[in-house]
Amino acid sequence: METGKQHAILFDLTRCSGCGECVAACMKKQGFEGDYEQVTDMSATSYTYVREVLAPDDEEFYCRNLCRHCVDPTCASVCPVTAIVKTAEGPVVYDADKCMGCRYCMTACPFNVPRYEWDSANPQVRKCDMCHDLLAKGEATACSEECPNEATVCGPRDELIADARQRFEEEPESYHPHIYGEHEIGGTNVMFISPFPAEQLLGFVDKLGNEPLPQNTWRVLSKIPTIAVFAGATMGALWWLTGRRDEVRAHEAARKARRKNGKPQHNGQSQSEEV
Ligand code: SF4
Ligand code: SF4
Ligand code: SF4
Repeated sequence: METGKQHAILFDLTRCSGCGECVAACMKKQGFEGDYEQVTDMSATSYTYVREVLAPDDEEFYCRNLCRHCVDPTCASVCPVTAIVKTAEGPVVYDADKCMGCRYCMTACPFNVPRYEWDSANPQVRKCDMCHDLLAKGEATACSEECPNEATVCGPRDELIADARQRFEEEPESYHPHIYGEHEIGGTNVMFISPFPAEQLLGFVDKLGNEPLPQNTWRVLSKIPTIAVFAGATMGALWWLTGRRDEVRAHEAARKARRKNGKPQHNGQSQSEEV
């Protein structure tokens, strides 16, 4: 699927009232408990937040922050086991079964998005998945569905860009005519428009340029091939060992449970035959 037809989200600062319905809808969709009104940052149990921002003339606005679903995501490019991938449809998604917990993605993200379940015995990386299951059914993301002001909308990326340009034309006094995310770091699938330059918004970085960051990553790595190969091999080995360790633990637990219950082994072996 070409980039223009990919699913995307457009957030319009001029329309946002700061009601937080998008945050509440996201938490409900993801099964997270808690008070959405207390959410002030992204976390393992809240993938988006809304915060007040001040225009240069001190006028108050509200801005959302969430994963940008980069067209060429750095988080995916540094993941040694493809636990994070960019889908052809647009969302950047995470597979906990593949993740080995190295947290390279957290370090690599230029927008400081991925979070980690530090308190969990089986921690996962957490971030917005763009409600890819809803999009696959032809439905809107939970946040855009619940936004009462159409400040958050979703649709094909090229249509949202055209829509943003039309708003610039129709209300030039309301907008700084720049779509943040159309080109930055090679483009993102979550884009923002606002009355003033986007570098003054939440979690926005001004000097990222328009080149996809993974190209920079690999340019650096290509200069140190030995380290890259060694790091990749080491992390791969750790991943295998960790996975193997978990398998052995599960097997041991199942064996103990069967012994306790006096049940025969599922492979037909007697208990004394088992290694
Ligand atoms: S914003 Fe960060 S976590 Fe989201 S896709 Fe881009 S690099 Fe990955
Ligand atoms: S797209 Fe889905 S997961 Fe992402 S912020 Fe919106 S509701 Fe949450
Ligand atoms: S639901 Fe819409 S208007 Fe309310 S805070 Fe979210 S983006 Fe803004």
